[in-house]
Amino acid sequence: MLRRLPALHWQIAAALVAAVLAGWLLAGNATFLTVADFLGELFLNALRMLIVPLIAASMMQAMLNLPAASAVGRMGLRLLGWIGLSTLMAVLVGLTLVNLLRPGVIDGQPAGDVLGLDAGTERVAEQVEGAATGDMADIFLRMFPPNIVEAAVENQMLGIIVFSLLFGYFATRLGSELRAAQQRFWQGTYEVMLGITDLVMRFAPIGVFALVGATVARTGWGAFGPLILFFACVAGALLIHLLIVLPALLRVLSGVGGLMHLRAMIPALLTAFSTSSSAATLPVSLDCVQRRAGVSSTTAGFVLPLGATVNMNGTALYECAAVLFIAQAYGLELSLISQALVVLLALLTSVGVAGVPSASLVAIAMILGAVGLPLEGVGLILAVDRVLDMMRTSVNVYSDTCGAVIIARAEGESPYSGTSGQSA
Ligand code: ASP
Repeated sequence: MLRRLPALHWQIAAALVAAVLAGWLLAGNATFLTVADFLGELFLNALRMLIVPLIAASMMQAMLNLPAASAVGRMGLRLLGWIGLSTLMAVLVGLTLVNLLRPGVIDGQPAGDVLGLDAGTERVAEQVEGAATGDMADIFLRMFPPNIVEAAVENQMLGIIVFSLLFGYFATRLGSELRAAQQRFWQGTYEVMLGITDLVMRFAPIGVFALVGATVARTGWGAFGPLILFFACVAGALLIHLLIVLPALLRVLSGVGGLMHLRAMIPALLTAFSTSSSAATLPVSLDCVQRRAGVSSTTAGFVLPLGATVNMNGTALYECAAVLFIAQAYGLELSLISQALVVLLALLTSVGVAGVPSASLVAIAMILGAVGLPLEGVGLILAVDRVLDMMRTSVNVYSDTCGAVIIARAEGESPYSGTSGQSA
């Protein structure tokens, strides 16, 4: 499997370039869009199909493989530390760039006047309604779904994770014979799911081509016009976080070189980029972190499902940048206190944002309300949201993989030492 992967990531990269070209040349071509939508949906469905059994199996086998119950708490705390640190850094990078470049002011005028602020009100309401809710109380309610089968049907990752943690914990307390049976069952299920992931990933070049091609053909370049500075600002901040901040943290906290890790994670990054969904990328990131970085299935299986659900560096950065941009576009200067509130809310709401396309828009609407800005402001950024979603999702996923390597290291493993990551 390892032998085929380098070739695969080149194939995916080539598909990405071809998709941009095809989307550009065939913009508006109905046949191309129909075929691309069909193939893209097929690939996405194949990945989504794996999510529920993969989360359950990866968390159960991780819990059952951990040497002691106290290890769960220790790993959980380490993960919490990583989420707090990496998300805070991300938000600060976004905050700094938006304050320096001021993308909401075009030729000295608030961008809202230039863009016509009321343009997208209806679309905003639709988008916000369509995505998962960002209400803080709702996060706790989603942790304990009334019906676990319904949660699975709706791909409610948080509920499945909490249930799996409970199940895994009590499975470790069974008598040795029953416990061993549970361990073998979940370990086997997990290996099977990774096998299916490998199969799905063989079709990744086609899936990536279709998803990205359709997005480029629909979005076109025209949409970027007056938003180009906002786009550049967010894209720049995301790249700084991806290429400088995260590698530096990775190096300091685990000793692993950033470039080596970035190269190993390319299949996961490109899948995140083309699907705009951390949840749909989870099978690929588990596969990459375990097989390419050599993290144990115990650490990867515990850290990544949680990370994909609650650790969203790119999303937090985007939320913060978008709210400040909207304030500038309305000609408002947010005080330091308001900016601090935006930072805090971006940190907190990014935890509750679901790992699905455009989910940030809900959180942005919530923050706008909290700092007294009108909801319609979200309409300003819709035109570029899709492409920025692709980029921020890649950053979300990359941060999860860095967290897995750092925690593996702290747990005494040696990622990238040549040993492929089976159970610790
Ligand atoms: N699409 C993002 C993800 O899945 C969430 C968001 O920022 O909209 O990670």
